[in-house]
Amino acid sequence: MDRPCDLLIIGGGINGAAIARDAAGRGLSVCLVEQGDIAGATSSASSKMIHGGLRYLEHYEFRLVAEALAEREVMLKIAPHLARPLAIVMPHVKRQRPAWMIRLGLLLYDNLGRLRHDAPRTTLPASSTVDLRRAPFAGLLHAVHGKGFVYSDVIDDDARLTLATARSAAGLGAVIRTRTRCLAAHRDGTCWRIQLEHHGQRSEAAARAVVNAAGPWVSAVLAACLPQRQPPQHGSHRPAVQLIKGSHIVVPRLYAGDHGWLLQNDDHRVVFVLPFEEDYSLIGTTEIKLERSDADTVAALDAPPTASAGEIDYLCRAVGRFFRQAPQPADVVWSYAGLRPLFDDGHGDPAAVTRDYTFLLDAPPDAAPLLSIFGGKLTTHRRLAEAALTRLAPWFPDMGRAWTASQALPGGEFADFTQLLAELRRSYPALPAGLLQQLARRHGSLTAAVLGTTCGPDELGRDFGGGLFEREVAWFVTHEWAQDADDVLWRRSKAGLRMRPAERAAFAAWFAERYPAPGLEAKE
Ligand SMILES: Cc1cc2nc3c(=O)[nH]c(=O)nc-3n(C[C@H](O)[C@H](O)[C@H](O)COP(=O)(O)OP(=O)(O)OC[C@H]3O[C@@H](n4cnc5c(N)ncnc54)[C@H](O)[C@@H]3O)c2cc1C
Repeated sequence: MDRPCDLLIIGGGINGAAIARDAAGRGLSVCLVEQGDIAGATSSASSKMIHGGLRYLEHYEFRLVAEALAEREVMLKIAPHLARPLAIVMPHVKRQRPAWMIRLGLLLYDNLGRLRHDAPRTTLPASSTVDLRRAPFAGLLHAVHGKGFVYSDVIDDDARLTLATARSAAGLGAVIRTRTRCLAAHRDGTCWRIQLEHHGQRSEAAARAVVNAAGPWVSAVLAACLPQRQPPQHGSHRPAVQLIKGSHIVVPRLYAGDHGWLLQNDDHRVVFVLPFEEDYSLIGTTEIKLERSDADTVAALDAPPTASAGEIDYLCRAVGRFFRQAPQPADVVWSYAGLRPLFDDGHGDPAAVTRDYTFLLDAPPDAAPLLSIFGGKLTTHRRLAEAALTRLAPWFPDMGRAWTASQALPGGEFADFTQLLAELRRSYPALPAGLLQQLARRHGSLTAAVLGTTCGPDELGRDFGGGLFEREVAWFVTHEWAQDADDVLWRRSKAGLRMRPAERAAFAAWFAERYPAPGLEAKE
């Protein structure tokens, strides 16, 4: 067993990665263990919005919305390749909310983020009213939808944001161990001893503090660390997790223009239609509350969730209420689903359960602490990490100060994306402009490091289709912990979307042979 590290983090989703990054930058020794792939669970299954969440205003979540709105500007600054401004258009549905109420809500939305003392300067345009019968919207919606509102949010690549955050943590000295599951943990004086499993091999690690950032598995990990503790009960004062399944579908692009749509559905839920990977539209999400009996069992979590036929139908119909040309289930080229690990505040309505985060700190006197995270949003991960470290500060009095608001993530060290792209075109004139754009969106200022001295497409190695070449795959393996084909096709890139099934199968076979899993390497 190695020497104890300061912090062992269970879970390589956005929250675990953010805490690892922040803590490592403050001088703590950090180890993060992830049972699958980085961002392999909820953090690659979101709507990919960095947003305040307009509808949360209706639930009076002003603190959460203000914090989230300010984070939009932070993400644009520290990850300009992954995050970009997005205008959202909302058709007015008179029978749901009067126009004055929406204007008032948008006024609040425009300004709430500025009210915080530490709010960054606002660069996003303010909201306005629009005529949906005129360009650029004309002809898209049913004639009854004449009036609409436009407001600003930010869209990002959730999986790559998580990877960039984990990479930043690793660059600051954090040890990131993927395909490594925490089986159990117990206290040994002022240390935790944690049992781990990696490809069937068991080992033990020791840490002065443990962070349980296991997302949907938070209760299961809590039970593994504190088996004697009563599981949190619904309605008790102890935090519990409420799992809400959400599915998305991807269809060929439904409209021209780089804006998104927020559609108020008949059931009072909202459905987003968002521009996705240049040629597609992303539609989501559903919200299905899992029963408590399911939520607390690991078994319910072991099979990755998928979008059901009913959910696909629901999303197509929701869009069809507004768009003249409704997408059909047969148009769906990809779908995915995730489980929101929300803090159970006792609400029966999934849409009304708070998206705010809460912590459970288990720290008996003179014993090593365990901090468990309930709830949260992709948007607020950086603030959640700061708050988590504030809770752990008494055990690490020499820890540095908060620093992540102004330091670029790997690849984010540039100011202007158009300029970055122009420089790449000058440096790599023989590479197709579309490919350079894709690479720049994924790798930002690291694109040149990925490409190296490549002169032309034939130096990129094997072409797998979908804009994926051997050279980039090697980068994913050596710099981003990719260990199987899906890690590459659906999280480090979305190349899988543009590849035919036969191309995906050929890539998977090539990858398994070129990069065999530990224990499967060819013997000499
Ligand atoms: C449908 C949907 C849409 C969403 N849309 C948005 C949005 O647009 N904007 C927004 O801000 N938020 C959104 N969210 C919320 C956001 O995605 C989540 O809050 C966030 O991803 C949760 O991150 P996490 O790190 O807590 O959990 P996860 O990403 O699930 O990470 C937890 C990790 O812990 C690992 N783990 C579990 N047990 C163990 C163990 N024993 N050992 C080792 N590792 C373990 C898991 O494998 C997993 O990778 C959405 C969520 C859903 C489901």
